[in-house]
Amino acid sequence: MAEHFDLIAIGAGSGGLSVAEKAAAYGKKVAIIEDHKIGGTCVNQGCVPKKVMWYGANLAHSIEDAKDYGFDIQNNGFDWPAIVKGRENYIKGINNWYDSYLADNKIHIIRGTATFKNKNTLIVADQEYTADHIAISVGGVPIIPEIPGAELGISSDGFFQLQQQPKRVAVIGSGYIGVELAGVLQGLGSEVSLVLRGQSVLARFDSMLREVLTEELLSSGISLLSGMKLTHLSQADDGSISLNCGDGRAHQGFDAVIWAVGRKPRTDELNLSAAGVTVNEQGFVPSDEYEQTNIPGIYSLGDVNGKAALTPVAIAAGRRLGDRLFGGQSDRKLDYSLIPTVVFSHPPIGTVGLSEADAREKHGDAVKIYQSQFTPMYHAFTRHQSKTGLKLVCVGAEEKIVGCHIIGLGADEMLQGFAVAIRMGACKKDFDDTVAIHPTSAEELVTLR
Ligand SMILES: Cc1cc2nc3c(=O)[nH]c(=O)nc-3n(C[C@H](O)[C@H](O)[C@H](O)COP(=O)(O)OP(=O)(O)OC[C@H]3O[C@@H](n4cnc5c(N)ncnc54)[C@H](O)[C@@H]3O)c2cc1C
Repeated sequence: MAEHFDLIAIGAGSGGLSVAEKAAAYGKKVAIIEDHKIGGTCVNQGCVPKKVMWYGANLAHSIEDAKDYGFDIQNNGFDWPAIVKGRENYIKGINNWYDSYLADNKIHIIRGTATFKNKNTLIVADQEYTADHIAISVGGVPIIPEIPGAELGISSDGFFQLQQQPKRVAVIGSGYIGVELAGVLQGLGSEVSLVLRGQSVLARFDSMLREVLTEELLSSGISLLSGMKLTHLSQADDGSISLNCGDGRAHQGFDAVIWAVGRKPRTDELNLSAAGVTVNEQGFVPSDEYEQTNIPGIYSLGDVNGKAALTPVAIAAGRRLGDRLFGGQSDRKLDYSLIPTVVFSHPPIGTVGLSEADAREKHGDAVKIYQSQFTPMYHAFTRHQSKTGLKLVCVGAEEKIVGCHIIGLGADEMLQGFAVAIRMGACKKDFDDTVAIHPTSAEELVTLR
């Protein structure tokens, strides 16, 4: 007989865990179905392991800078297996913590792959489970293009399985995962080529961020191979991999190729048609502002709904859904505007709101830009230099801030507080009236002329 729950979440990632946690806190009978590791992409193959590697690359830069600060210091090599071991132990600790946390909160974990039988019933390994509410929170998987030899490359998931450091690497993709992995590998001592289909990295970001990041990528030694329309990957007798383009261009000698060309929702196994759930052209499961799909009682949360593929977005949407369904807060929903985000490039980027181009398209001549670029004090006398760029995008006579873009040391930690102010409707004058903290890079944002 089928076991019945008030709520079942499919997927123990950021979205599924959050809605389940809320429902359980309201005293509901809750289960999560998971066929991989608890914590989902963020914990196991995303934000967490990526940030550990980013810290590692930062240290490599700091060792170089330390010499200029007077330290008699030598970088005598880097032990890739050591950072992998530390990282994986850290992640194992988070996985274990989740096991006891979920048990303590009476959230059932069902191990296996969920498939819909009908709109209230899921099947996992021949066992049926029914629920009043089902949250589809299955996340996504990396895209590997269908070109000959594509299997010679690995994805970001494969990057986190590397037991040895690749010496010569091609990272294919101009999005945030591509620039992050390129920066990490270059920082840790690999020779990196970043392969772009078009001409520019981070196409949807503000132009200032793109320009400064491109300069920084080049000055760090990363080769930018732009306009590369790859037709196939091939392997030489010595095992090295070549990238081949339709125009005859080829780049040879890579010992690892990493695909970072986007992610697609993981919906294939769900048998969504049995529940009547609609999927859009890209395979996402669209949900309305309350995260409900076209079928009442079935919700789509996190990366799978295609709105904004970020961990805090999945968490916030899941929590609000739990409040709405079980906490008597009938209008509770996530506002998807003004979502701040960080790219853990070297140096990092923090960005919220409209780019200058998007603001001009929306508000025309009412847009006013304030910006600055400078060398942060940390790099005042270091050989390795890295720029900081700041931009405020303001609109109207009151100069309401609709976009804030930062690239440079500390941008990752700088943005969160500014995002609060901007969400509250801050105008340029509010920034001007805020006393600066000196000496910092952040103070430049409240002193822009
Ligand atoms: C390399 C990388 C770096 C990233 N860095 C950041 C970052 O710095 N900051 C940030 O905010 N975001 C980052 N992200 C994005 C972030 O990881 C995702 O937005 C977030 O994990 C989405 O959560 P989710 O719950 O939607 O899905 P997921 O976390 O992907 O969880 C889905 C879970 O569902 C399970 N599942 C799928 N189908 C089934 C099924 N049929 N049955 C049972 N289980 C199933 C999967 O195994 C998975 O565990 C990064 C992503 C990647 C790949």
